Amino acid sequence: MGKHQRIRRKKEARSIARERIAILYSLAEEAALQGEETRAKRYISLLRKIGMRYNVSIPKKHKVTTCRRCNAFLISGKTAKIRLDKKKLIVECLGCGYVRRFPYTERTKTDRGRGVDGRGGSRANEEGGKSSDQRGN
Ligand SMILES: [Zn+2]
Repeated sequence: MGKHQRIRRKKEARSIARERIAILYSLAEEAALQGEETRAKRYISLLRKIGMRYNVSIPKKHKVTTCRRCNAFLISGKTAKIRLDKKKLIVECLGCGYVRRFPYTERTKTDRGRGVDGRGGSRANEEGGKSSDQRGN
């Protein structure tokens, strides 16, 4: 490992990393849809590496649609079997058989203190058009 002199730039690097992750994700999706699973896997593993390296968490949507074990891009009915069981989303990778469950009612533990989704919250901003929620991007 080289010197880490660019700690200051971490934030910037992370937003770039996020962008790259998004790009790789769509490339993987495209590849998977074309039946190029090997290519899709490569994108996914790259995406994961970037995420780890920059400590960027992979969006949940990405986690659901990618296999953690073999990095396959999971498409329902094609490379994966996706079922709903009461409050869980069960995703089975048809490539390696890896099964994951995603509870629906999962609380956002990893969120730094905020960002609880507005369930049963105030209806204050229901009227008056858009709520000006600012999400840290
Ligand atoms: Zn798999």
